[in-house]
Amino acid sequence: MDKYRKEQYLKMGISEAVYEYCTRVEENLKERFQAIDATAEYNQLKVLHAMQKNHVNAECFNGSSGYGYDDVGRDTLEQVYADCFEAEAALVRPQITCGTHALALALLSNLRPGDELLSPAGKPYDTLEEVIGIRPSKGSLAEYGITYRQVDLLEDGFFDYAGIRAAIGEKTKLVTIQRSKGYQTRPSFSVAQIGKLISFVKSIKPDVICMVDNCYGEFVEEREPTQVNADMIVGSLIKNPGGGLAASGGYIAGKTECVENAAYRLTSPGLGKEVGASLGIIQSFMQGFFLAPTIVAGALKGAVFAANIYEPLGFPVIPDSVESRHDIIQAVTLKSADGLNAFCKGIQAAAPVDSYITPEAWEMPGYDSKVIMAAGAFVQGSSIELSADGPLKEPYTVYFQGGLTWYHAKFGIMKSLDEMCRAGAAHLT
Ligand SMILES: *Cc1c(COP(=O)(O)O)cnc(C)c1O
Repeated sequence: MDKYRKEQYLKMGISEAVYEYCTRVEENLKERFQAIDATAEYNQLKVLHAMQKNHVNAECFNGSSGYGYDDVGRDTLEQVYADCFEAEAALVRPQITCGTHALALALLSNLRPGDELLSPAGKPYDTLEEVIGIRPSKGSLAEYGITYRQVDLLEDGFFDYAGIRAAIGEKTKLVTIQRSKGYQTRPSFSVAQIGKLISFVKSIKPDVICMVDNCYGEFVEEREPTQVNADMIVGSLIKNPGGGLAASGGYIAGKTECVENAAYRLTSPGLGKEVGASLGIIQSFMQGFFLAPTIVAGALKGAVFAANIYEPLGFPVIPDSVESRHDIIQAVTLKSADGLNAFCKGIQAAAPVDSYITPEAWEMPGYDSKVIMAAGAFVQGSSIELSADGPLKEPYTVYFQGGLTWYHAKFGIMKSLDEMCRAGAAHLT
């Protein structure tokens, strides 16, 4: 049994030394993996329960065209999301083009001129800077007379409660909290921490809308932020909740009023959720959501495995090898350009799609250095599939995430290490 497996790894270019090292590391992760599986098992039941409760049936998969009136599948899917996340309502649509669009929609539809948006947890995700107007941009909140305030995190990465209290004022209408660190070095927040922050904000101003950018966080824990009083959670379907099957789309779940506001902005005042043809994608959205807890577990195992592979070899990792996880992103500081290139080459070579391509760093608009990216995905740009990227500059940190199966994530990481060893950028002692 082990013999065939090892032979196959060697056949696919993994050196014996890398195979032996990785096998030893994996043996020590049994307990971590058991805990991840237990969370996935719970979340599987949670999703299944929502599907059964809403009588998902074959008719749901018929799809609609044109206006999309009375689209049973679309409406049922939205109720499944809402029930699973213990929200009053949800908007889950292929017409929401990506995570940034979903976040922009939630903000632009729930804020009015004269309102203020507050980020109590530091700088938001890069693409939101233009949505908010921190970097001037057409159609930004700033252009509509919506102001923005930010309270940075304390040195230790936690909330500055005194600063937040001082920043909440007359105009504060909506508070945005990003669960995942994204591509920053701060820690990601647990749902419990987010819940505490929401309680604090509401104790000062009860009617403030608390929105959580839930990207990369879905199904990592047993609870979602809507279960700790978030008014809205927002995310992308080509990340966790799409389960690798959704080819596009985004979601907003939460209070009925917040979700309806978003629907009236996505389609039109007067129309809201009633229109929006589902064009035959509901089965993939529903089935992807069904698979998502397992897919997320595979990606999480990959992230934990990578931290445990690279940390002992002298590469700083965030989160570290033993920390609890609140999202699926892993950062590894590779300390050299050769290392970063080799790592990405390995991830690409491990892909089911485009494996024969060698990724090269390029001048990406908006960045002050070249950026290298590795991805060989079934869905373009999907980051629930194994992918890695990093700016080609000191300290040469790669961010990687995803993996539709644990075995694929594992192979990708083994391949990355193998390439690094070949390039002389990593050494097995
Ligand atoms: C990915 C991501 C976004 C934006 O999503 P896109 O689909 O890339 O537009 C926003 N916030 C966080 C934390 C993310 O990880």
